[in-house]
Amino acid sequence: MKVLVAVKRVVDYNVKIRVNADQTAVETANVKMSMNPFDEIAVEEGIRLKEAGKADELVVVSVGPVQAQETIRTALAMGADRGILVETDVQVEPLAVAKCLKALVEKEAPDLVIVGKQAIDDDSNQTGQMLSALLGWSQGTFASNLDLGDGTLKVTREVDGGLETVALKMPAIVTTDLRLNEPRYASLPNIMKAKKKPIDVTNPGDLGVDVTPRLTVVKVEEPTKRQAGVIVADVAQLVDKLRNEAKVI
Ligand code: AMP
Repeated sequence: MKVLVAVKRVVDYNVKIRVNADQTAVETANVKMSMNPFDEIAVEEGIRLKEAGKADELVVVSVGPVQAQETIRTALAMGADRGILVETDVQVEPLAVAKCLKALVEKEAPDLVIVGKQAIDDDSNQTGQMLSALLGWSQGTFASNLDLGDGTLKVTREVDGGLETVALKMPAIVTTDLRLNEPRYASLPNIMKAKKKPIDVTNPGDLGVDVTPRLTVVKVEEPTKRQAGVIVADVAQLVDKLRNEAKVI
């Protein structure tokens, strides 16, 4: 079985993000970039399927600038076999990514595609679902457990108020939730070995995909700063402030 995993290069989750000067986007110049955390979980799950003898090849794909090769290398150092970079400097939207992934799925013929439930930069939570619709494949979103049988995949999903288990026909798309697994760190020997693993480079045009953005960002703003609080002397003063200043009672 072949597994394809999509990994996005995003601003590292530890960075305190800033809006750029012309308020059109988040500042990415001189900012630490890393693999989207949900995609680390997707790579880890692919590796575990290989280690369990259920998958024999794990291919990682990223759509983005040339620097996204570093993200692919990280996945290779964790244990993926080879990478594909769909190189573009365009700020790709989920539909464009899903179309690139569809073209690669048609070429690579994987049995399972694992993507993160959302990218922490745009918080779209759309790519996996769009890919499933474009391919007409089953989908198990927000997965917290995978149980791969013969031709079917049981996916436990984190839904409001509990867990739901769905049985999918293969081939299928899975999107990862936080509790699916704990991704491993790449060891130094594996980082060295990953340097020799192949990364193919293609581009959206060669895949027949137009990635021109369809959305216009009107404005990006920081959340309003929280006002300083005050300590009230007693309950009477609190009630008075709530009634006469905040006017909430
Ligand atoms: P989103 O729909 O943007 O929230 O992203 C959901 C998931 O789709 C991510 O966790 C990735 O696995 C995948 N994805 C989104 N954008 C890209 C990209 N540019 N390159 C590779 N994978 C991506």
